[in-house]
Amino acid sequence: MFSHNKRLQYTVRVSESNPGLANLLLEQFGGPQGELAAATRYFTQALGETDPGRKDMLMDIATEELSHLEVIGTIVAMLNKGSKSRLSEAVDSEAEMYRRISGAGNDSHVTQVLYGGGPPLTNSAGVPWTAAYVDTIGEPTADLRSNVAAEARAKIIYERLISCTDDPGVKEALGFLMTREVAHQQSFEKALYAIQPNFPPGKLPGMERFSNVYFNMSQGEGDERGSWNSDENFEYVSDWEQQCAVDGGSGLPEVALQADEKSLVAQTMQRTRSDPQQDPMTGAMLGAGGGNGIAPTKSVRR
Ligand code: MN
Ligand code: MN
Repeated sequence: MFSHNKRLQYTVRVSESNPGLANLLLEQFGGPQGELAAATRYFTQALGETDPGRKDMLMDIATEELSHLEVIGTIVAMLNKGSKSRLSEAVDSEAEMYRRISGAGNDSHVTQVLYGGGPPLTNSAGVPWTAAYVDTIGEPTADLRSNVAAEARAKIIYERLISCTDDPGVKEALGFLMTREVAHQQSFEKALYAIQPNFPPGKLPGMERFSNVYFNMSQGEGDERGSWNSDENFEYVSDWEQQCAVDGGSGLPEVALQADEKSLVAQTMQRTRSDPQQDPMTGAMLGAGGGNGIAPTKSVRR
C-alpha cells in the first residue's frame, strides 16, 4: 500500500515567480530522465523482482523517486503560482502578459496557456510523457546497468538545470535531487556486482572465438589504440578480408525453400527483371534544360 506524508522530502523555498524556469524544470517532471520515468522504472522492476534484497531496494528507491516527483512538481507549481493567477484573473495588459510568459527566452506559453501553469506530464518542450522512457527488460544484470545509466543521465540534467537559475532555494533543492541520483547510482552498481557472475548479462555465454575480437572497421587517419582495443585485451582485426564471413562460410545468404516457393520466387524475378540494354527517356530528361547541372544523355543531346 502507499500512504502520503504531507511534508516534502526536501523543503521547497522559491523566492519569486519564474514561469520560464518552471518550464525548464518540467524536464525532470515529465521528461525522459525525469522523476516519473525513474519512479515507474523502479516500481515496475520491483514488482517483477524475486530477489528479496533487490526487490526491497527497488521499492525504496521507486518510492523516493515519487517523492522527488513531488518536490520537482511542487517547485514548478510555486514558480508558476503567481503567473498562473495573473493569467486566470486576466489582470495584465496583452503586452505585459506576452512579456511575462514568452519574453526574454522565457518559453513558457504552452505550459501557461495550454496547461494553466501545470505541472503537466510533459518535458520542457511540451512532449507528453511516455512509458517508452522505461527500458526495463526483466533481467537484473541488464536492468541494473540501465538503471546506473539512467541515474547518471538524471544527475547531468539536474546539473544543467542548476546552471539555469540564481534562485538560492531552487538551486539548493535541485542540488539535493541531483545528489540523491548519485546515491542511487551507487546502490544500483553495488547491487549489480552483488550478482556473480554478472557479465555477460543473462545465461548464455558468447561465442568464444568472437567474444574478445575487435574489428577495426573504421579505418584511416584517426585510428586509435587503447585498453578498449589493445592487443592485451582483444584480437585486433584490421584486414578487410578477415572481417568478412568470419564464420568461414561464403558470406552469401541462403535459405532452403519448398519447391512451390522456389518457382514463385523465379516467377517474381522474371516479372521484375531489369534489362541492362534499355536506356529509356525519363521525365527528368524531358524537362532538363541547359545549365541546370543535369547532363543530357545521348537520346536528348542537341
Ligand atoms: Mn530522483
Ligand atoms: Mn534516482
